[in-house]
Amino acid sequence: MDERERALQAAHAAASEFLATLPERPVWPRAGLEGMLQRVGGPLPEQGRPADEVVRELAERADPGLVAIPGARFFGFVIGATLPAPLAADWLVSTWDQNSGSSTLTPATVALEQVAGEWILDLLGLPATASVGFVTGAQVSNFVCLAAARAAVLRRRGWDLGRQGLHGAPRVRLVVGAHRHGSVDRAARFLGIGQDDLVVAAADEEGRMLPAALGRALEDCGDDPLVVCLQAGEVHTGAFDPFTELVPLARAAGAWVHIDGAFGAWAATSPALAHLTAGMDGADSWTTDAHKTLNVPYDCGMAIVRDPADSIAVFRTGGDYLMYSGLDPWDLTPELSRRARGVPVWAALRSLGRAGVADLVERMHRNALALERGLRDIPGVTIMNQVDYTQVMFRLEDDADTRALGAAILEEGTAAVTGAEWAGRAVLRCAMSSWSTQESDIRRTLEAFARLVPLTRGS
Ligand SMILES: *Cc1c(COP(=O)(O)O)cnc(C)c1O
Repeated sequence: MDERERALQAAHAAASEFLATLPERPVWPRAGLEGMLQRVGGPLPEQGRPADEVVRELAERADPGLVAIPGARFFGFVIGATLPAPLAADWLVSTWDQNSGSSTLTPATVALEQVAGEWILDLLGLPATASVGFVTGAQVSNFVCLAAARAAVLRRRGWDLGRQGLHGAPRVRLVVGAHRHGSVDRAARFLGIGQDDLVVAAADEEGRMLPAALGRALEDCGDDPLVVCLQAGEVHTGAFDPFTELVPLARAAGAWVHIDGAFGAWAATSPALAHLTAGMDGADSWTTDAHKTLNVPYDCGMAIVRDPADSIAVFRTGGDYLMYSGLDPWDLTPELSRRARGVPVWAALRSLGRAGVADLVERMHRNALALERGLRDIPGVTIMNQVDYTQVMFRLEDDADTRALGAAILEEGTAAVTGAEWAGRAVLRCAMSSWSTQESDIRRTLEAFARLVPLTRGS
């Protein structure tokens, strides 16, 4: 056996061991950054070690600082576990080591990503001719889509951004909802669209943009080139903007419409939940993640643009040494060299099929409803949102108690939920985003809360 084979076997053994610990290991890490730096740090050794020993050492040293994200009871933020097929496919992606930007150089992985993109458009009910750029996540997708949007709305005013640059260009206004994700502001900042260029439209108590507020925001922008950024899936409540009302309004004002559907866009895959995304297909660009709801490994998101020419106008690659064959993946996103991160999406969709994707999303919704019902039965707990999708937000009467409960559940280790603020109150939020969460996991989590709530109230 050669060194590479021994290293891969060591990795397989370590991976299997880690997966076996998931049902019982504390969900939150037992070691913090300081402790971990001690475990893995020190000066760089003068001499090397055999690869398989390195892999075993790595797995052993990392263990106490690992968080059980791929497990069944990680409900923090909105992140998502990893299904078996994309996990294994991701190993192949590293093994193949394809620099997946060029259809001439890497036809196998480019084809797999192209088909994965077509399947995604079909599942989400988006135009089959849209371009799908595979990026690291929704943050970069928001950046890619807003970059395409900015260039397009300027082009409509006769301003060629690629040639003339931003200096002296008409002012681009970005209309956003009060409960947009922070990555929208950050993407705008990367693009030279400042906070003063944002027009914020008010939202209702679930965080959905109000049509009347959008109407006023559009009026405030007057004649400026416009981009309207809507949302499918608010990170606290899971709420969806009412696209059937908002999209035509924005369109009538001549705006480019972008929808951030990092995890919410997936409601479209389920006949039972698709009403939430009604009208989503009317936009010009869409952001979604595969590493959240679809449960592929990090890092994987998609930047979807209705007219591929709009993303190509910004991202087309030059260089006489590059091999061209019409449209290549590197013409759609900011990256040049990259891993074939869309291949695990192909594997996930191939393993689930259309019915399996719908079932995955519906199970997440059912788990959220079961958690909500159980939490309502615990004295002192107030549910803070309408559980239409995968998010459950709740609090205790007192903000300090709510925060103490959040700390206690992480310390106790049964489940991970994370804290936030909503309407000026401390809240805890739970996101159902793991394929492996069973009814028994919801029960265990509720039992832990039932034990901890009386201990933290008034503590
Ligand atoms: C998670 C999330 C993002 C950021 O996504 P990353 O994958 O972390 O880059 C953006 N928008 C929404 C609505 C999200 O839920």
